[in-house]
Amino acid sequence: MGWFSGKQLPTTSYGYTPPPGATASGWVCYNDGCGTGDMPAPKRWPMQCPLCGGPADPEFDQPWRDESEGPRLRALIAHDGDAYGIYTGSLYGWQFGQALRKSVPAARQAVTEALAWRQRFNAAKGVERDDPRSLMFWYAWNNGHVALAGELLGGLLSELDYEAVDYTDIDESWASSKRGTYLGIVNMATTLLETPEARALPQAPAIDRAARYIGSATQHAMGVAPVKYQWQELMRRPELR
Ligand SMILES: [Zn+2]
Repeated sequence: MGWFSGKQLPTTSYGYTPPPGATASGWVCYNDGCGTGDMPAPKRWPMQCPLCGGPADPEFDQPWRDESEGPRLRALIAHDGDAYGIYTGSLYGWQFGQALRKSVPAARQAVTEALAWRQRFNAAKGVERDDPRSLMFWYAWNNGHVALAGELLGGLLSELDYEAVDYTDIDESWASSKRGTYLGIVNMATTLLETPEARALPQAPAIDRAARYIGSATQHAMGVAPVKYQWQELMRRPELR
């Protein structure tokens, strides 16, 4: 018995009401400056955070963990304005995931909306936000949508002049976002092209070409990361045409 016996979990501090039957295996505290949490979930809600004394929230099991992420991001955006678009970018990523549960066309629509937001945001702030298709790629890939993953990566690459990039200043520091961007692309491309299904996609030759080019230009920064071995594997295979 206990928390799974049909007891309704409470509405969270960020305004998400879990449906009847939702379960939690821990608790988490989102109060300003606290951010702690632990397992297991308490037998009774509401619960007070032992560290700050504020109200703690359930740490939901899936699928409610995913479901609650959108309301949590919206609350963060309302609370702090999100001047850098960090949470808004994540919210678009979340909406893509929720849409993909319904259908691939719905997910494509979410991609279009995310890219339109990014374009508006970049123009208004004079910045260059990360391409949301990287996150979406992994979500699609991890859920078995190989063709959609290929579409996302192919789309990202088609708008990226990767041959014009200076890769010499990329080092092994994980803090560098340039490193993250380009090694991230090599990682996506080599992961995708390991499967025969992906190698038959219309975007495969362009993805293969980009992985070879960017991988060759960034190998000095790969260290012993798994991406290095995946890239070496790819280089041993014949080029896709
Ligand atoms: Zn707390």
